[in-house]
Amino acid sequence: MPIDATLPYDENNIFARILRGDLPSKPVYEDEFAFAFHDINPQAPLHILVIPKGAYVSWDDFSARASDAEIAGFIRAVGKVARDQQLVEPGYRLLANIGGHGGQEVPHLHVHIFGGQWLGPMLA
Ligand code: C5P
Repeated sequence: MPIDATLPYDENNIFARILRGDLPSKPVYEDEFAFAFHDINPQAPLHILVIPKGAYVSWDDFSARASDAEIAGFIRAVGKVARDQQLVEPGYRLLANIGGHGGQEVPHLHVHIFGGQWLGPMLA
């Protein structure tokens, strides 16, 4: 069920619980600003989620409230994961679903990294 991305941050959303270590995940990368882990239901041979450590619902929430250091740290982490996973060549795809029309299911900002095969002109 897609979320309303204008709602306040829910401290008990599933990614908040993963960040706290209350729920298991398969980590790929972690630093001061970001955490990355394998998607539980991969839609490509490699499907990783990168999330900021701060409590942000969506891209607009993040860009409005996060510090410059958090924003830079998060974007750098996405790039580092892609490099570490050897995705730069042959290429990969980034996706952020936001709110109802975007089909966002989890109310903690996340960027999907898809790779490992030709992904077609666009994911459905
Ligand atoms: O962008 P959207 O909110 O739709 O994507 C949420 C993603 O979180 C899904 O790809 C889903 O498989 C993933 N997920 C996960 N681990 C969970 C719950 C959801 O990787 N425990």
